[in-house]
Amino acid sequence: MADRHVAFALIGGGLAAGNCARWLRESGADGSILLIGREMDLPYNRPPCSKGYLQGHESREDTLFRPAEWYEEQQIEALTRVSVKSLDTSERTVELSNGESVGFDKALVATGAGVRRVSVPGAELEGIHYLRTLGNSDTIRSDAAGKRVVLIGGSYIACEVAASLTELGSTCSLVMLEGVPLSRHFGEQAGRFFQDRMAEHGIEVFGDDELERFEGADGRVTRVVTKSGRQLDADAVILGIGAVPDVRLARTAGLEIGERGGVLVDSRLQTAVPGIYAAGDVAEYESVVHGGDRLRVEHWDVAFNHGKTAALNMLDRDQPHDVVPYFFSDLSDWASLEYVGPASDWDQEVVRGSIDEGEFTVFYLNDGRVAGALTVGRSDDLEHARRLLADGANVGDRASELQDDSSDLGSL
Ligand SMILES: Cc1cc2nc3c(=O)[nH]c(=O)nc-3n(C[C@H](O)[C@H](O)[C@H](O)COP(=O)(O)OP(=O)(O)OC[C@H]3O[C@@H](n4cnc5c(N)ncnc54)[C@H](O)[C@@H]3O)c2cc1C
Repeated sequence: MADRHVAFALIGGGLAAGNCARWLRESGADGSILLIGREMDLPYNRPPCSKGYLQGHESREDTLFRPAEWYEEQQIEALTRVSVKSLDTSERTVELSNGESVGFDKALVATGAGVRRVSVPGAELEGIHYLRTLGNSDTIRSDAAGKRVVLIGGSYIACEVAASLTELGSTCSLVMLEGVPLSRHFGEQAGRFFQDRMAEHGIEVFGDDELERFEGADGRVTRVVTKSGRQLDADAVILGIGAVPDVRLARTAGLEIGERGGVLVDSRLQTAVPGIYAAGDVAEYESVVHGGDRLRVEHWDVAFNHGKTAALNMLDRDQPHDVVPYFFSDLSDWASLEYVGPASDWDQEVVRGSIDEGEFTVFYLNDGRVAGALTVGRSDDLEHARRLLADGANVGDRASELQDDSSDLGSL
């Protein structure tokens, strides 16, 4: 027998849960809403953890999804520092780490993702950091600013942190498996553009290499050794080698886990158990804008919009999640990118604008269809890319128009 009952239990105190609570209220839900998060902060935006907050330009309050008063005004009960220990999908109850047992009518699993860790020799040394939370960002700033820092990883977290720490006076080197940073998602020619921006600001980039081990003295890291034999002196190390969806609760609750490691949901973000939904980084959903393909995407905008879609469906609005995934990233104020996709494969890159002049859009075509697009400084192009991607129209034989800056993308 549960200690109490709520209409909506939102599990995970991140963006997806926060925005779900908002849309439940904005869409007229008058039942009780309980949001349960294990972090010390109310739902907040993680992007500043590697950018403005890390650099010291944004405060902890600035990062909040909504200020504390908002939850009171909206009569949303938001618990922090409380974990959901178990979810019983047939009894429809959650057991909380504060000892409470709470029954619910509908629930959202929005437990996010955790950092991928390495287990190489020396991985336990002091001075080796991962980044997921505001607290991690605080620790990195106090431990790595103004020092020699080696970053492991060629994706956006390592690149953004390298840029932010450079602004804080650190000397940064980046070691990564790929030849060119950011090339896994954006291809080599765009990746080189970002690598050049980093090099201009003194960041050394070592591609096609792999972490072998850490060496240290007195329990603290002093050197990074790579598989190619490179030895890089380091006062601190930041690992940005990916994230793993946090499906521990969902798995023990018996919810189905998909091929991409996320909680399987349909196009309405509902699991196989009626009334139980998943959203954000943890959700592996059927994407109606990708012909029903299953996607699991770790983007701020996806978590945000998933929160809304889940809320509408909890209110029986039968709303497919039909938003084209959007991503943004900044390398300090040196370069900003926006992207729609995600393109898992492409066989052609069409560049509109000029990479050399730093204003360009790359369209990633697969079999003639727009699978993704990246832009630096040309946001308007992205609106067209979004439409072309959702339409699934074949524009392969009109690539010259995509490329020609004087042609009207609206006519494609
Ligand atoms: C440093 C950093 C920078 C980023 N920058 C960008 C960017 O520039 N652009 C972009 O598009 N995306 C960016 N992202 C990704 C974006 O922040 C995520 O996609 C987004 O936060 C996902 O939101 P979420 O609500 O699904 O999960 P999360 O934000 O991970 O929230 C899930 C929450 O649930 C909690 N939780 C888990 N299990 C339980 C449990 N059993 N009980 C209670 N609570 C639980 C977790 O502790 C966590 O607080 C960035 C991510 C990071 C880490």
